[in-house]
Amino acid sequence: MKPPPNPHVAAMSAYTPGEQPQGGGWVKLNTNENPYAPSPAAVAAAQAAIGSDGDALRLYPEPASRALRESAATFHGLPADHVLAGNGSDDVLNLLIRAYAGPGRPVGMLDPSYSLYPVLAAAQAAPVIRVPILPELTFDPMAVAGCGAAVFFITNPNAPIGVAFSPARVAAAAAAFPGLLVVDEAYAAFAACDCVDLVRAHPNVAVTRTLSKSHSLAGLRAGYVLARPEVIGLLDRVRDSYNLDRVAQAAAAAALSDRAWLAATVERIKASRERLASGLRALGWSVIPSATNFVLATPVRQGMAESLETGAHAFEYLRSRRILVRRFPSHPLTAAALRITVGNDADVDAFLAVAGEWTAGQS
Ligand code: PMP
Repeated sequence: MKPPPNPHVAAMSAYTPGEQPQGGGWVKLNTNENPYAPSPAAVAAAQAAIGSDGDALRLYPEPASRALRESAATFHGLPADHVLAGNGSDDVLNLLIRAYAGPGRPVGMLDPSYSLYPVLAAAQAAPVIRVPILPELTFDPMAVAGCGAAVFFITNPNAPIGVAFSPARVAAAAAAFPGLLVVDEAYAAFAACDCVDLVRAHPNVAVTRTLSKSHSLAGLRAGYVLARPEVIGLLDRVRDSYNLDRVAQAAAAAALSDRAWLAATVERIKASRERLASGLRALGWSVIPSATNFVLATPVRQGMAESLETGAHAFEYLRSRRILVRRFPSHPLTAAALRITVGNDADVDAFLAVAGEWTAGQS
């Protein structure tokens, strides 16, 4: 006999992560990883957390990730009781939905934005309400405020479009929204400003961060949320008791303390981002100005106008040359475009060379 699962779980689909190709030889520009090695302080802390003989791994980690919470609090100038750490920011997003959404308590999101939110909502049997990003690439704060969601996610800067919304616009939504407003700042380190100050001003604002992109620690899984202690206390009730392993805790805390590494790395990535964007504009592609470590660009060439098919054609050409980018074909604002992670100088050169071949070519 097949035991019947929860109907809402039977009906849902899993999140589809970007392709993680095995084996070398790829220029991997599809999941917004950082092209540079992490801070040496983070690497040393990870190694120390294992210990030379691995003996430290016998023991459970510190359950509350206290040192990491303190490091994140110092980084943002907030008290440590305003921070909760997660096994990647995906873990934190899941906890927020677990604590605030469910049947009759919808999850709201901007459309398009991060496609994990509907998956996490479905797992809690929570409906999803989508508020459109407008053609001018912004959103209406009153549409967010009045949408009826119990918890609303503003991905800022937006993924996959790459634009940043002003803190004033987010604040306007927060002031009028009766639920919890989560600002997913996975890419904020690459933007000109962020919404961390809104946590101080608004009891219903939570800001999530990841160390996967800005700190080059995607392989470890570390992220956190900043919010008032009442919100943090709720999330603490529903998290796994050991949600971060000891290596991730130690490396993430050390990474956040190395501000010089972060500043230098972010500057390098921003410089490459501008080189990538101007190289693509020179080919005639349209490029949305980016506040992130990726660029959303729409390919065109002689005889092929911007379209879903042209985007797919360019994607396949790049893939055949072992260059991996990402497509988001299901939304009109992104359907014709490619999302290209900003790599190192060699990655950008390789990408631009093959994009140039495609643009000039007939096949
Ligand atoms: N938020 C957004 C908008 C993202 O693009 C990502 C990365 N896929 C995440 C959160 C998750 O990051 P993490 O690696 O910390 O789980």
